[in-house]
Order: sequence, then structure tokens, then C-alpha cells
Amino acid sequence: MGEKEHEVIIIGMGLAALAAAARLLELGIRDIGIYAKSWGGTPFIAAINFVLPENPYGDTSEQYFKDMIAAGYRIGNKELVRDMTDHTLAGYELLRRWGVKFAENANRTKKLRHVSGHTFPRSLCSTEDLIGLEILKKMTKEFEQKGLHPRMNAECVSLLAEDGKICGITVLDSENRPENIYAPIVIAAWGGVGNLFGTSTYPPDIQGNTLAIAKKAGATLVDLEFLEYEPMVVMDPPGALGEPCPTAMLGEGGHLLNSKEERFLLRVRPQGEGGAPKTLINKQIWKEVAAGNGTPHGGVWVDLRHIDQEILEAYPWFYNRLVKNGLDPKKQLVEVGPMAHSFSGGILVDRDYQSNIKGLFAVGEACGGLHGACRCAGNAASQAVISGLLCAEAIDRQKNKVSLPGKVFSPFYASNQQIFDQYAPGIRSVAAKALGIYRDGTILSNAKAHVDAILQNEEIQKDTRTVQIAMAVSLMLEAAIKRKESRGTHMRLDFPEESPEFEREFTI
Ligand SMILES: Cc1cc2nc3c(=O)[nH]c(=O)nc-3n(C[C@H](O)[C@H](O)[C@H](O)COP(=O)(O)OP(=O)(O)OC[C@H]3O[C@@H](n4cnc5c(N)ncnc54)[C@H](O)[C@@H]3O)c2cc1C
Repeated sequence: MGEKEHEVIIIGMGLAALAAAARLLELGIRDIGIYAKSWGGTPFIAAINFVLPENPYGDTSEQYFKDMIAAGYRIGNKELVRDMTDHTLAGYELLRRWGVKFAENANRTKKLRHVSGHTFPRSLCSTEDLIGLEILKKMTKEFEQKGLHPRMNAECVSLLAEDGKICGITVLDSENRPENIYAPIVIAAWGGVGNLFGTSTYPPDIQGNTLAIAKKAGATLVDLEFLEYEPMVVMDPPGALGEPCPTAMLGEGGHLLNSKEERFLLRVRPQGEGGAPKTLINKQIWKEVAAGNGTPHGGVWVDLRHIDQEILEAYPWFYNRLVKNGLDPKKQLVEVGPMAHSFSGGILVDRDYQSNIKGLFAVGEACGGLHGACRCAGNAASQAVISGLLCAEAIDRQKNKVSLPGKVFSPFYASNQQIFDQYAPGIRSVAAKALGIYRDGTILSNAKAHVDAILQNEEIQKDTRTVQIAMAVSLMLEAAIKRKESRGTHMRLDFPEESPEFEREFTI
């Protein structure tokens, strides 16, 4: 047996990992090994949705279910969506038990914001800091007190599996040496694919090579063609570049304008911009830019000037960053456009969040199939919490039926910076071009042929990370080629319509 072993290993320390670990601790499972590079997208979360009994709009979990299925273009896995919307209150209560506080109105009810894709305002927030940061601070402090010490700066480079069963993981130690850690249960909570695309809203620890790690271990993957583009990311001034303008700003009364100062979204959404699905916003921005009505940096304007100062200041991370960089949104238009963001694909899971590999679970952005072809805003965070919670409960139910694997694996990892520098930037740029908002069959096929040729090159085997990046891009291209229709975030110029024939998930 290897040097280290645990009852449960969690890969990642973002929201899904936090929720899973918190619930496991509550259920009395204490031997949890957490291995994570950093904090992923979690510190940047502004909005998280829960349907609370006290909501004043008559909102229900049934309406939430309908919204998710509709926003996902009817291909989200209905059982997983039903489980998520049925457990909305349980997710909220888990965070409350661990000390998380949400912003309130003067009458002590929770402040609810109306974000993209939802019928009603149901998005909770913090008005002092980003809610993701509030959750992270509170929960990590509690973990510390309970003796759970995650190993940070630890990158998982491989899953150890044999005969369809998980056995453990390989992580890099502080000197980049591979080390095996064993456990009969492993939770992949390693987030999405942001940095497969060069520029993205995601921090650098989300490299996207994890898709290849899962595939190599034998996991089935799903919905890899559905990459979400955040529609209103700040394009200028340079100091605020990459900061998402919350879609909740449209719910607060903000307008999108083209270079002719026309509210172009109203042409397709006469009821107003608030609550508009992200795909619709992306599509319409793309059309305006293509028609020559774009702004100097290739986006559009968001007009927030008529919104009360107090409301703008209740989004302090966004408002302060603009002001700090010399742009006052109360007086000036803000230039925004789409940027690669979160991922709706990933490891295919069952209702326990278990993959086809026994003992390998996947939660949060690491798993796919739930959001379908487009995700409601604020739902990545809710899904991270609820999937973590449900996965922990499933693990508790089966913990006595699993045992530590007997097999010892040789740790393997090849590292060659020169090979990485030679190939990885080119692969990323091919991915960014082919897997943009609008896709084309010929470009996708050429991109896949190019990346597959690199994968065949013996030389790149000298660097595991390069191989994994190439493999992950190739898998996403394969999924995008297969889906010969336009649905949600996957828009094919050569197949502009939705096709009933494709109303199903593709697994890879
Ligand atoms: C700027 C920005 C704003 C966002 N705003 C919102 C929002 O308002 N509402 C919302 O719902 N969603 C939002 N999202 C999306 C949201 O942040 C993610 O979907 C969410 O954090 C997913 O949680 P997670 O735990 O699955 O993954 P993450 O939070 O991304 O965490 C992944 C974890 O895995 C670790 N990791 C990755 N690879 C490895 C590896 N190989 N080995 C070890 N560890 C690894 C990371 O370091 C990190 O700890 C936003 C994202 C960004 C970038």
C-alpha cells in the first residue's frame, strides 16, 4: 500500500469541494484528504440561487425546475435537475449551518436579485464582498477549527483506477515530484475548463486538462460542446479587463446599447433586458458587432448611468474596480463583450453524483449534464453546493461497502517546459478560434485534425500537461463536431437551427 491513504479524497477546494467536505464532516466522516491547487472560480462568485419559503414572488422549486430545463434548451438531465431544485432549501441551510451570511433588506428578509434565465428574483448575494469569498472565508475557518487541513498547491495529475474502480490519485509535491495517494472514494471537484482558451474569466488554476485526466482513467464525459460565454465582460479600461458586469445589472434596469445607442436587445425581447438568458445576450451582441454596430474593442455598451448610486455600490467588487480604473459607471457607458466562462460539460454522473468508475464521484463544474445547453446565471454556485451535499450523503450510504484498493501504482508524471512552451499556446489558440461563440464544421474538423496530429507526435509525450491539454481540446472539438445543430451556447453557422433529432446528450 502507498505511503498515504484516506477514507475519502477530494480534488479541489472550491465551492463544490467545500460543500462535500462540510456535509461529510456533519455525517461523521473525518478522514478526508483535500488536495487542491488554489480556490478556482469560487472567490469570484457574486450570485447564488436558492428558492426560500420567505420569497415574496410566490416562487417555487417547480418553477425553478422549469426555468432550468427551459434555459438548458430541454436537454438538461431531468432527474439531476429535479434533485437539485428539490434540495434548494437544503443547500441554503447547509451554508447557513456553516456560518455563511447573505445580504438582507431593511425588513430582515433576504435581498433577492433577478439574474439571467430565471422567472423570479431568487439570487442571494453579499453586498459587502463577493458571496463566494464570504463562503470561502467562513467555511475554511470552520474546517481549520475541526482539524481538516487541505493540502494546497497540490496538483492532481492522474486518477488511479483499475477494473472500473477508483484506487486513488497522483499529485505533484512541492518539488513537482509525483506522489500517489490512495482511497476507495475520490471526489473530483476540480472545476471547469476556463484556461483551455487563453483568455477567459477564470483564474489560472482552472486549466481544463482535468477532462483528459478523467478520460484517461476511463470516465464517460458528457456535453463537452457546451462552453458558456459570459456576455458582459468589461473590455476597457485595461485595469478592469475581464471583470464580468453582473447580468443582474440588467435586472436592476441597465440597458445594452450598440454604437448607434440603440437598445438592440429589445428587438428580440420587448419585455425588457432584465432576466434575459445569457445565450440570447451573447447572440445579439455578436450580431450587432458583425453588423458593424460594435464598440472600439469589439463589444457593445452597457448603460448603468440611470441606476441609483446606492444600487451600483451594492456590487462593490464591480463598481470599485471600474472607479479605481478611472471609469465612473454613473457618468460613463461601460464597454462589454462575451468571454469564455464556465462549463456545462464534464464527467457523466448518476443521481449519487457517481461516475461510471466505481468510487469516483464528480461535483460542481467537474460534472456535466445538469445545465443542458445553457446555464441559468448564479446556478453554477447553487449546483456546486447541492451536488457536494448530495454526493456526501450518497458516500455516507455506501461507505461500509467499499475498501481500500490492494494495488500499488508507480507514480508517473513527465515534465518538459520547452515542449509545453512550444505546443500549448498554439493548441489553446486553436481551441479559442474553433470553439468560440459561433462554430463552423470545417473549422472544427480542421482544428481537431491539427490537435490530433500533435497528439500523435512522440515528442509531446515528454510533457504530460501538454498531452492533457491537447487531449481535452480534442475531446471538446469531437463533441462540437458531433452536434450538428445550434442549441444554447453551441451555435453552428453551418447548422443554424435546432434539430429534434439531437434532443439528447452526447457522451464521449
Ligand atoms: C469571474 C467569475 C465570476 C463568476 N460568477 C459566478 C456567479 O456569480 N454565480 C455562479 O453561480 N457562478 C459564477 N461563476 C462560476 C463559478 O465560479 C464556478 O462555476 C464555481 O466556482 C464552481 O465551483 P467548483 O467548486 O466546481 O469549482 P471551482 O470553484 O472552480 O474550484 C475548483 C477547484 O479545483 C482545483 N483544481 C483544479 N484543477 C486541479 C487539479 N488538477 N488538481 C488539484 N486541484 C485542482 C482548483 O484550484 C479549485 O480549488 C463565476 C466564475 C468566474 C471565473
